[in-house]
Amino acid sequence: MKKRILASSLITVIFALIVVTCSFIALVNIKEIDKTKEILSTYNEVIIKNNIFNDKDLNEFSINRTKVRFTIVDSEGNVINDTDNDNLENHLDREEIEEAFKNGNASTTRFSNTQGIDVVYYATKIDENTVIRASVPLSNVRVFSEGYIKYYIIIIIFVILLSLGLSLKLIRAIIYPVKELEMATYKIANGDYSRRVNIFTNDEIGSLASTFNDMAEQLQSRISDSADKQNKLEAILESMESGVIAVDNKQNVILINPYAKNLFGINRDIIGENISEYIIDYDIISFMRNVPEIETKEIKLMHPIPRELRIKKAPIINSRKIPIGIVVTVLDITDIKRLENMRSQFVANVSHELKTPLTSIKGFAETLKYVEDNNTRNKFLDIIDKEAERLTTLINDILILSNIENSNKMKEEEFNPSEVIEDVINMFVNNFNNKEVKICFEDKGTKILIGDRDKFYQMMLNLVENAIKYSNDSVKINIKTYENKDYAYVEVEDNGMGIPKEDLPRIFERFYRVDKSRAKGGTGLGLAIVKHITKMFNGEIYVDSILNKGTKFTIKIRKTKKLTDFIF
Ligand code: ADP
Repeated sequence: MKKRILASSLITVIFALIVVTCSFIALVNIKEIDKTKEILSTYNEVIIKNNIFNDKDLNEFSINRTKVRFTIVDSEGNVINDTDNDNLENHLDREEIEEAFKNGNASTTRFSNTQGIDVVYYATKIDENTVIRASVPLSNVRVFSEGYIKYYIIIIIFVILLSLGLSLKLIRAIIYPVKELEMATYKIANGDYSRRVNIFTNDEIGSLASTFNDMAEQLQSRISDSADKQNKLEAILESMESGVIAVDNKQNVILINPYAKNLFGINRDIIGENISEYIIDYDIISFMRNVPEIETKEIKLMHPIPRELRIKKAPIINSRKIPIGIVVTVLDITDIKRLENMRSQFVANVSHELKTPLTSIKGFAETLKYVEDNNTRNKFLDIIDKEAERLTTLINDILILSNIENSNKMKEEEFNPSEVIEDVINMFVNNFNNKEVKICFEDKGTKILIGDRDKFYQMMLNLVENAIKYSNDSVKINIKTYENKDYAYVEVEDNGMGIPKEDLPRIFERFYRVDKSRAKGGTGLGLAIVKHITKMFNGEIYVDSILNKGTKFTIKIRKTKKLTDFIF
């Protein structure tokens, strides 16, 4: 660019110089020739007027120190006299001579055959028979002769240098802003959107720069807008508790959020890759492949972890209203399904549990109408009473459980767990249900717990009751409390019938009873209640059991710090 501007401005300057010089020379020459012709005409008239035709006088006339040549020609064209040459040919064909005979005066500038150079002629008629012609070589007239060339070259060099200097200034005025614009464009293209150009001229380049800066401003604000939107979208997608996958029409992944990746066991970036290589589930892939319409479906995922999913797809439409892919949202409904299952199972269990004693009560009550014998009648009444008792226990347990489940905040009172345990022990001293009961209490635990005292009581009651229920006639129970670091521990150990290993994981489930044949009149809700209460205390419960040897339940509760603990 720089070179091109330099070359074209130099060419222009040189061309202009040539044109100007030529025109100037031509103009000046014409003027000088005219002036010479005038002088020659004056010389002719002076000679005619003074009648001085001898060579001596004629040789006195000169122009620019060059002697003027005079030629006198008669009407026949014969050269009567010539100051420079003898024996000249007939001159009638010379145009200035011919015209002078016709019009009195004539001048011309032409090549002289006699002298072999360009010559300026002026012919004046003396009388009808003679014409005098004065002439000087054209070289004598030219202002721009060889002598001036050196000055001319100096001027040309000076003009060229001047024009070079001006061109460089012009280049700087054009190239610098263009370079600045180029640099700014490069920086912006490389992500530096804050870059602006510093051109403050009032010309076209200035207005181009300010338009460029406006454009950069808009670009920056749009890009930061879209980056904000992108960040928001990413934050939403990343924090979502459901999976989002967007694929194009060829099933290549456009977007996938961490939840979806986790769900399908994908642990690397798969943008641009085909989704069917990563989700090994025919149902999901064919659901994604079908015609893009809004649709919802429930699918059982087998790999990597069995899950129940609800998936919904919707088409992605571009600005020309053409579907370019689909977006699929995946909701993990495994827990919801399990809860639904549990609920319906709970209802079925409750109905079943209630039905058994009720059927029994109804049956005995109906039979009672026809029983006359007092003994049998009393026996039947006892059974009805027992069944009613069972029904009450069952309903009580259900109520306790639902009460625990529904109360989301526990009472917060300070109580001494040892006192509560003593109260429970006192309920069963010596014997219970005709069993010999021996309870040892080794109390090395905390004296303060914070929470609901009644619930703690209920928990201990259930554990001790079970220990007695599932033991032989001679029951020995060891209750221990102790502390370790921030935790309070309570152990209830018996020497009873124990629990089979395979049942251990399920004994805390509602209505789960180890063996129906044990038939101790339990509701199957006791340990479910215990588990819920330990959860309310932010604790955990563990069980160890050896069949026919005994069972040990251990409760671990985090001790809540007393207020005084916080004061230094
Ligand atoms: P239930 O009200 O029927 O006793 P639980 O939920 O309290 O129901 O107990 C569930 C099952 O766990 C019982 O059916 C019983 O077989 C077993 N079980 C609970 N505690 C003990 C224990 N201390 N010794 C042996 N088995 C027990």
